[in-house]
Amino acid sequence: MSHAEFVAEMAAVSDLLSAINLLNWDARTQMPPGGAETRAKQIATLTAMARDRAASDAMQQLISRAEDTLADVPETDLRRRALAQAKREIDILRRIPAALITETAELSAKSHSLWAKARAEDDFALFAPVIEKTFALQRGIAEAIGYDDHPYDALVSRYEPGMTRAKLRPLFDALRSGIAPLLDRARGAEVRTDFLTRGFPVAAQKAFGIALAERMGYDMTRGRVDDTVHPFEISFTRQDVRITSRFRADALAAGFFALWHEAGHGMYEQNIAPEFTRSIFATDLVNLYAVGGTSFGAHESQSRLWENRVGRSHRFWEQHYPELVAAFPDQLADVSLEEFWRAANRAEPGLIRVEADELTYDMHIILRAEIEMALLTGDLAVADLSAAWAEKMRDYLGVAVPSDRLGVLQDVHWSHGYVGSFPTYTIGNVMAAQFFETALQAPGVAAGLDRGDYAPLRGWLTENVYRHGRSRLPDDLLVQATGRSLETGPYLAALSAKVDMLA
Ligand code: ZN
Repeated sequence: MSHAEFVAEMAAVSDLLSAINLLNWDARTQMPPGGAETRAKQIATLTAMARDRAASDAMQQLISRAEDTLADVPETDLRRRALAQAKREIDILRRIPAALITETAELSAKSHSLWAKARAEDDFALFAPVIEKTFALQRGIAEAIGYDDHPYDALVSRYEPGMTRAKLRPLFDALRSGIAPLLDRARGAEVRTDFLTRGFPVAAQKAFGIALAERMGYDMTRGRVDDTVHPFEISFTRQDVRITSRFRADALAAGFFALWHEAGHGMYEQNIAPEFTRSIFATDLVNLYAVGGTSFGAHESQSRLWENRVGRSHRFWEQHYPELVAAFPDQLADVSLEEFWRAANRAEPGLIRVEADELTYDMHIILRAEIEMALLTGDLAVADLSAAWAEKMRDYLGVAVPSDRLGVLQDVHWSHGYVGSFPTYTIGNVMAAQFFETALQAPGVAAGLDRGDYAPLRGWLTENVYRHGRSRLPDDLLVQATGRSLETGPYLAALSAKVDMLA
């Protein structure tokens, strides 16, 4: 009986968080601009309700009574693991003082428009006080959560449980030294891109993108695709997992790669074990978010896997380039498969993270993570931020930063109070290659990819990644699926193989 009460209470918290997701989805796809102010209040109210319920003394009692009820059940039993996970996450939630959460939310509500203005006007001084305040609040949150070695550990582990600065450093070092020579080799490659800006009607690009997302396995009977400025994926249980996209007639391919990225996130959510619905294994109590993926990095590994390891691969286009040409016969009449593939995989250092290609993307992340660590401890002052940014961009990518608008002001993250989330993009890249390398060894997976049949790969991912939801921590998931903890070898090998074909 007592265990059932815990399950019911967790389900109610999960319902509140799913309702918040729905309000957010609506705000970003349907809501008229006039609704923004009230909507922010509605979301704040529901978030406070979910937080109070999850962190309540009543929940603590339900957990402890459920533990008594299950005392004779083995610790490996999923019900016991659910209780342990709820305890772990609620413990972190309860350590962060409510005042710090309120202050962070208030700052975030105010600073988004300030950030947008500062970026538009290239006015760093306007945004500098927000950065100052954001890092002060995050320092407070890190102290409240607690850490052994470095305050960054407390923040990054909210998004990637178990991750620390000490584990990130060798990862970053390996990527920096592994990618630099690849970039040098790729730089000389001749890549034709003139055809990408010929008019490609948006409706036809979208139809092509969705048709292939469905063949990859994104289930449109439990999903939908809407238009947005910044594509994202969001779910309200595995039965309703929505994605968004943005297509432009003068930019062939960017739209459908972004769609497949979100479809990868979507397939993760759609394939969580059905029995995890409305449970702790589909609910993130630390970030108060209804989600089935076990960490930000693990989630990103699935979007990157489908976008890059599958969607940008040569064998994928050997199968599907004729279909693309059939959709755009005039525009692509003089473009070969080889030319299209090279354009889709070209590498060129640039200033903007969200426009970066696979070979340069991680350098943007490493730069941001290092800057966050230094700002958090005070080793870097906000006043010196622009100069530090420019220096790292020169060192890592060899580009000169002409303005703060194209430098330190480009990302929205700090205006929302996200400090410590950037590394999860790179963790996702590295994890994706590791999962993919192992999946290719499984019977039928490689042969399936060779004939445009994605069911074997999706089946392997469902069995080894998706169905487990949040019931395994990221490192356990990786070790049980691939036999190893996170390592850069498979990722660097994949990048190197790509450069061999480009150069
Ligand atoms: Zn993503």
